[in-house]
Amino acid sequence: MGSGEESKVAVQDFQDIVSQFLVRHQSILDVLSKFQETNARVNRAVIKAVTNCGCLKVVAEKKPIPESACLSDLKDYLDTHLRGELCEECRDVIQAELGKALFYTTALCHTLGLNLETVMKKEHEKVATLRYFNFT
Ligand SMILES: [Zn+2]
Repeated sequence: MGSGEESKVAVQDFQDIVSQFLVRHQSILDVLSKFQETNARVNRAVIKAVTNCGCLKVVAEKKPIPESACLSDLKDYLDTHLRGELCEECRDVIQAELGKALFYTTALCHTLGLNLETVMKKEHEKVATLRYFNFT
């Protein structure tokens, strides 16, 4: 691990294992509330990297975009507003929280009879078509 040689996980395999792990007949209400909770925990982990650890800083301001700027210039004016880099501890925590959020995203798909891979493929096509527009 950590060598960059980690094995890839197929989306369908992931959905299969999540569905096996889910308690039988788990209520959609439980899945929805866990889905929301895990998303909130991802936000909290990122915020804690800023406010508790300090490895990240948020430096935000509005940058005026010149009227003459064309679409391909936009990336020069947009900013993550992040400074610094995740330390190992915060990286581990955020990855773990993202994993749980992915788990419940997948569980939601499973409970509703949706296929995560199809969801990803459709979004992939949309993003590939829209590119810049998608993020406004
Ligand atoms: Zn940190």
